[in-house]
Amino acid sequence: MLDNEINTLNYALALDKADPIAHMREHFAIPKQASGENEYYFTGNSLGLQPKLAREAVIELLDAWQQRGVKGHFEGDFPWMPYHEFLTEQAAEIVGALPKEVVMMNSLTANLHFMMASFYQPAKQRSKILIEDHAFPSDHYAVESQLKHHGKDVENNLLLWKPRDGEELLNYDDLWQIIAQHGDEIALILLPGVQYYTGQVLDMKLITQVAHAKGIKVGFDLAHAAGNIELSLHDWQVDFACWCSYKYLNSGAGSVAGCFIHQKHVENTELNRLAGWWGHDKSTRFKMENTFKPIASAEGWQLSNPPVLSLAAVRGSYDTIKLAGGMQVLRNKSLKLTQYLLDLIALELGEKIRVITPADANQRGCQLSLMVNVAGLDGKAMYNTLEENGITTDWREPNVIRVAPVPLYNNFQDVYHFVRILKECI
Ligand SMILES: *Cc1c(COP(=O)(O)O)cnc(C)c1O
Repeated sequence: MLDNEINTLNYALALDKADPIAHMREHFAIPKQASGENEYYFTGNSLGLQPKLAREAVIELLDAWQQRGVKGHFEGDFPWMPYHEFLTEQAAEIVGALPKEVVMMNSLTANLHFMMASFYQPAKQRSKILIEDHAFPSDHYAVESQLKHHGKDVENNLLLWKPRDGEELLNYDDLWQIIAQHGDEIALILLPGVQYYTGQVLDMKLITQVAHAKGIKVGFDLAHAAGNIELSLHDWQVDFACWCSYKYLNSGAGSVAGCFIHQKHVENTELNRLAGWWGHDKSTRFKMENTFKPIASAEGWQLSNPPVLSLAAVRGSYDTIKLAGGMQVLRNKSLKLTQYLLDLIALELGEKIRVITPADANQRGCQLSLMVNVAGLDGKAMYNTLEENGITTDWREPNVIRVAPVPLYNNFQDVYHFVRILKECI
């Protein structure tokens, strides 16, 4: 075998053998095809696979509830009253934050609203929100409804950063232009860390710097970034960020989301917020008095006592990431795994597949977004054929197959088989 024969199973096997975290795959349940063989699962960008530790943690919690009833709030190794606190340190590590800056609570879109309640305070001269044109619909709806909530008309107050005609990726020059022109009128910029459709990673540090220079608050939706790429939210001075835990964080559909509020804001009790009793000072919470005294950390934004069954799944997932060695280890493998996918596609399929995700490794995470470029071959039909052949990818309108090899449970053989089957199908 020649070293450069990357399109052979032996080459993929050799890469797996050299992979220091290849064993992590054993910590996950991999869905089966009808034939009984493992699926080739490339949809960790949509719903991460189940970590065995998450299952164990949920069962432990069910047992505690069964055996202890209300006393489970205070008893056992992981009492429910402070359950979210068991997750804080690892959540902070994953997004590059101080522990006081993060809390696991609510759902992603709910957190976007709560953060905008604090960080979108329109003034007469500064009332606009800037998002990207192809923002995830939920984010777009949340932002429009916030504008309406404050009595601002959407047409004059929503600014959109769009890719240029005929292009898919966002171009920074266009963003700088909008900020130069409208900076003094913009109250908030809300952008994704990783764009869900194209897989483009945005330069969160630079965007925050440029926006802050104009007095604009900056928030990021990290749904596709948390657990995927390395983040340094604290150092980047990001004002707030929100993310779900069921994509690259493998905590199960609809599981409890994450929220980051920068240190410079967490002690500001003057900041407007939509409050609830779980955000109140822990030492006096159960005095049941009516004067709200917020906890001086991200926890001060909590509303309710959290769904501990779901937090248990998050705990099992975080422990799995920790076992692998953390985000840097995952990212190292991810860079190799996705590069292998990119190289194989170029070698085996050439022009037949157009990859719209940036080729530059700094501008992408796990995911590649593919467009089928063969006359008479419909992308959606191609996606269905892959499905029939044991390959789980996901289809996004109007025209993209998203493929995300995930370093925790995908291996180089999976990638090899994906490209082999894709080639056969074409
Ligand atoms: C997945 C995703 C969502 C989903 O929102 P939920 O509130 O978790 O249902 C929202 N925004 C983005 C950018 C996403 O990728």
